[in-house]
Amino acid sequence: MKVVIEVDENRCIGKGKCYLVCPRGPKIWKFKSVDGKKVYYASDTSYCFFCKNCATRCPTNAI
Ligand code: SF4
Repeated sequence: MKVVIEVDENRCIGKGKCYLVCPRGPKIWKFKSVDGKKVYYASDTSYCFFCKNCATRCPTNAI
């Protein structure tokens, strides 16, 4: 199953909670700079097993 993880760049505050709570954080989550703001994104969803930790624990509901 192909997993698509969408991050709302307007809501992301770049704290990296998604990276920290994801059991496979280093394999999946990376950050980039968008208009000078740090924004996280799922760079490789092939490691995702749909536990939903990232989405349920994001403080701004960006995922
Ligand atoms: S659903 Fe789980 S495994 Fe997938 S990116 Fe989110 S925290 Fe990581």
